[in-house]
Amino acid sequence: MKAAEFLPEAQQMIAERGEPAYRLRQIYGALTKSLVRDWEEATSLPKHLREALTEEVPAAVLDLQRVSHATDGTRKYLFHTHDKHAIETVMIPERGRNTVCISTQVGCAMGCKFCATGLMGIKRNLKAREIAEQVFVAARDIAPERVSNVVVMGMGEPMLNYEATLRALKVLNDGDGFNLAARHIALSTSGLVDKIRRFADEPEQFHLAISLHTPFEEERKEIMPIASRHSIPELMDAARYYVDTTRRKLFFEYTLLAGVNDQMRHANALADLLDHPLYHLNLLRFNWTDTGFSATSKRDAKEFLRRARERGLSATLRPSRGEDIDAACGQLAAKDLRGRPAVPLVPLS
Ligand code: SF4
Repeated sequence: MKAAEFLPEAQQMIAERGEPAYRLRQIYGALTKSLVRDWEEATSLPKHLREALTEEVPAAVLDLQRVSHATDGTRKYLFHTHDKHAIETVMIPERGRNTVCISTQVGCAMGCKFCATGLMGIKRNLKAREIAEQVFVAARDIAPERVSNVVVMGMGEPMLNYEATLRALKVLNDGDGFNLAARHIALSTSGLVDKIRRFADEPEQFHLAISLHTPFEEERKEIMPIASRHSIPELMDAARYYVDTTRRKLFFEYTLLAGVNDQMRHANALADLLDHPLYHLNLLRFNWTDTGFSATSKRDAKEFLRRARERGLSATLRPSRGEDIDAACGQLAAKDLRGRPAVPLVPLS
């Protein structure tokens, strides 16, 4: 039962107090449907239970510190965890969709060279409630509009926090919970091949995106340390397993870095590599220079897209969003880090 897995402390409390079992469902619904952040708001629960919950099980596990609004409508939420770590969440309104980009770890161990979060190293994994609550806060903030998509592309490598991430996604998807269709939820990985296979075998129809960033082995090792662990052929084997198993579209993220991965030889090699009709290339211009990388010009990015399409690739060039609040969705940098995150967003079709 998702409620018991998501709220083990509440389940234990209900059992110890001899409360009827249906109370757990009510508590779960108050958090995931009614989006309460204080048990006093959960008026379907009796007063004595609200008081007990307030004592023993917090309704909110994240402390919302600040909401920044960009001129294009993007919003960035800065949270503190109970142990005072900063994490960020971004909400991007786009063409009638409201996409929320969430974090799964404090920092990240993967060390991608172009990513501010990678510079932090890993502090800890987020718990399922901390992951899901980012969406609840954004949903509450934009009501009566609804969150239409969730992308797991914020701080961290979600597949290194697999159990908690999947638990949170299942609650977001649960008809008795947040009730967001699985096809509107996407997870992005830097390429852990064993976990890609495991994700393919999950019963829910969540989408997957793989951060590729170059089709060349040696270049990938330069910018993504994980490439030394899993070669591109190994990664493509896992990608093929995913599409063969799920028959779902598979997104490849590609941040264009000037002079690094944005030449025509890259576009040509991508066309050869991404040789399955269910593969889709998502291009994004890099928009942060503090790591020593710089952005491909708009003209060159469009030319790269044109070449990729000409070579038969299904490909899109995504606009950067929320630049005036440093909110490009993806590897989010904490405000006290050096700069702006540089992250591809993969809105789902
Ligand atoms: S790009 Fe993603 S996987 Fe790589 S260091 Fe940043 S957060 Fe981690």
